[in-house]
Amino acid sequence: MDGRTAKLRISTKIACLYGAILFVMLCLMSFVTGLGIYFSYYNQAEKELEITMHNVERHIDDETAFTRNFWRDDPIMPGVILRVTDVSGQLMIDTDSRYPSIDEIDDGVVRKKPLWANREMQVSKVHNMIIYHSRLTTVYRGELLQLHFYRTITADESFLRTLQYSVLALTVVSFLLALFVGYFMSNRILQPIRTMTKLVRKIEIERMDRRVPVPASHDELSELADTFNHMLDRLETGLKKQQRFVSDASHELRTPVTVILGYSDLLSRWGRSDKDVLDEGIASIHSEAVDMQQLIEKLLFLARADQKRQVLHKENLELSELVEDVMKKMKLVEKDHTVELRRNDEGEIYADPVTMRQMIRVFLQNSSKYTPKGGHIWADSHRSEDGKSMILELADDGIGIAKENQEKIFERFYRVDSSRTKDGGVGGTGLGLSIARWIAEQHDIDIAIESDLGKGTKFILTIPLVS
Ligand code: ADP
Repeated sequence: MDGRTAKLRISTKIACLYGAILFVMLCLMSFVTGLGIYFSYYNQAEKELEITMHNVERHIDDETAFTRNFWRDDPIMPGVILRVTDVSGQLMIDTDSRYPSIDEIDDGVVRKKPLWANREMQVSKVHNMIIYHSRLTTVYRGELLQLHFYRTITADESFLRTLQYSVLALTVVSFLLALFVGYFMSNRILQPIRTMTKLVRKIEIERMDRRVPVPASHDELSELADTFNHMLDRLETGLKKQQRFVSDASHELRTPVTVILGYSDLLSRWGRSDKDVLDEGIASIHSEAVDMQQLIEKLLFLARADQKRQVLHKENLELSELVEDVMKKMKLVEKDHTVELRRNDEGEIYADPVTMRQMIRVFLQNSSKYTPKGGHIWADSHRSEDGKSMILELADDGIGIAKENQEKIFERFYRVDSSRTKDGGVGGTGLGLSIARWIAEQHDIDIAIESDLGKGTKFILTIPLVS
């Protein structure tokens, strides 16, 4: 396709294409019809001439030609003219004296006969007439005779020409009509696309709420508009999520930065003279910086996950070993709770050890954060009944999660009680479970939750075994 064709509107292209197809078809039809008309005209005349010639020949053979019986038999087909001349060219019999003379007809013989004319017959044009004729030389009763048979193809040659011109004119008119109607119709059919294009041009990041009008007809165009609107819905949701993520992240980072600024201000005023202020300032700044670092690590993890850049190195590994190791380290750092590994069945899984550990730690650290001092945290790992997976339960007898919040805890930055701060003993960011859920999804792990307010929480992970 060259540049000019590419720039044409679809409606113009469709109109041209259909116009061209119709034009070719009409030309073909006119040609075939014209040919058919000519062929049948000549064929009919040829047959009548042949029958007449045959009849006359029969009578010549019987020696009954030109007798009273001959004329009674009526051997000459209607429309056929018979003329008989002797050797000198003297006209002896003429069935139509008003018909053009033999000389006139002989003078009018066309050199190039039409394709559909019989090779053994002649075609003459006299005045406006087209005459089809044949000649027979015979000896009858000892005399050499010439028999001339004539049949008119058309008395008015212009009739056939007019017919040709009319068909041609009809073809051209039909072609132009097809072009015009085709252009008009396709223009109308494609109008919704133009409306869509105009509207889509107006959709910008700031105005994502606009939608393309869906045509009432249930066709490809309404499907396109629907698909487009769904895509816009998804984009809008994604964009809103992203905007919320950025604003939540900035909000989370603001608190530690404010605290650090506050302490650095305090240190610059009193830090040099008051050792207690100095110690408290340094400790607080350090603790806030550590929190900030952890938050940034989590944000980076999720950002990488969103961009599908978070790399996982999956391998076959023994779940019991991994659980045992994580629990051992948990026991080492946990001073306020009783940590217990109740059951740890063997089972080989296909997973990335680093993120698997990270995921289990999210649940255990949450149990630690949301279980009052002296409470219990435990793990239980066993095979499922169908033997296809491992069931890893991570539980505590802590504060529990109300039913209405159990769905939301996996959302980014969601905290059941966000007013709790580090001073209250809990320093959450609301990102841990989002990360855990992403890791679980990457390993086809199903997470179920059983929790009651005041009684405790149990996360049940169903981890597929290597088959
Ligand atoms: P956070 O950093 O706040 O712990 P998470 O995404 O890990 O963020 O958890 C989201 C919220 O779910 C927490 O703020 C907490 O309210 C609730 N939650 C998670 N685990 C437990 C648990 N074991 N017991 C009670 N509440 C929990």
